[in-house]
Amino acid sequence: MDSTSVATPRDIADRILAGAEDALDFDTMVHFLTEADVHEVMAAADRVRRAFFGNKVHLCSIVNAKQGGCPEDCGFCSQSKHFTTGIKAERFLSSEEIVAASEKALSQRATALGLVTATRGMDGDSKALDKMVEAVRAVRDAGHTEAHASLGFLNSEALDRLIEAGLTELNHNLETGRSYFGKVVTSHTYDERIETIRRAKEKGLRTCVGGIVGMGEEPEHRAELALTLRELDVDEVPLNFLVSIEGTRFDHVDPLPPLEMLRVIACYRLALPRQNVFIAAGRMHLGQLQPLMFAAGASGMMVGDFLTTPNRGVDDDLRMLEELGLQTQVCGDTRPEMSRPSARPRSLPVLSA
Ligand code: SF4
Repeated sequence: MDSTSVATPRDIADRILAGAEDALDFDTMVHFLTEADVHEVMAAADRVRRAFFGNKVHLCSIVNAKQGGCPEDCGFCSQSKHFTTGIKAERFLSSEEIVAASEKALSQRATALGLVTATRGMDGDSKALDKMVEAVRAVRDAGHTEAHASLGFLNSEALDRLIEAGLTELNHNLETGRSYFGKVVTSHTYDERIETIRRAKEKGLRTCVGGIVGMGEEPEHRAELALTLRELDVDEVPLNFLVSIEGTRFDHVDPLPPLEMLRVIACYRLALPRQNVFIAAGRMHLGQLQPLMFAAGASGMMVGDFLTTPNRGVDDDLRMLEELGLQTQVCGDTRPEMSRPSARPRSLPVLSA
């Protein structure tokens, strides 16, 4: 792309802050992901983050409610039965174990607990769904955190039952850009994933949809995913960086350099100004630059352990926030003057770091 004709990161931030939230187009995003000065991209993203989120960040946590034995073949995943990774198939956790996880999440300042199962999906009349409905209800009734879930494909009846039990948000990641998806997953399609996301939105659920960066994809695929998420108008965007696990299809892939990770975060902030772009798996690859993820535009992070890999200690995370002067907030909140007319009310008290 001719760099004399392309908008600068500062131009894009100016346009976003003037109300054009879709100012970043595909070609400009690819330019920012490749050639533009990374510090200029980060500075623009930080302006946008501060305008929409102030000094607030959102923390969430997940629990592996049903580990291993998944029939799908997602190339990054230690829980797929197509790969030999040492992760065993386990039973569903009990509701009591899941409520204990929500209490732990609250102690880590997380305001939501995502109940995650290594399953293709659940029909409305399945035993698996019965267990998850019971667990969601138990988390809601315990009142420690909101109940979110990531259960694979869900039909209409399954969504209705989960919503009735207290589910407030559904996670269903797209993993990567549409044109790279076939290199990552072959056991289901991109459109199947989009169908569950659309169905959840139609029912009024908040949606949490992101992907994994660093699986050998090109910058174009990263831009493609970001713009698909914008088109779908999802609420939260978990940005993961590949944690290469032995035995999976991507076990030979090296992590991205920290500065490239920050560049991706900054571009996602500019592409998705209002969405809670939060950093989940792989943030340890940022190394000493980890606190800079917020200056690059991140508005949250996952705390506590990931599904099958450890995270860094939550005490270090909370100290980092305190030293950065950041406070925790309920997911989905933005600054009042920037929020949608239909902004959702807060359902939980704000916890200050
Ligand atoms: S559907 Fe989920 S649990 Fe199953 S292989 Fe894919 S990422 Fe892993």
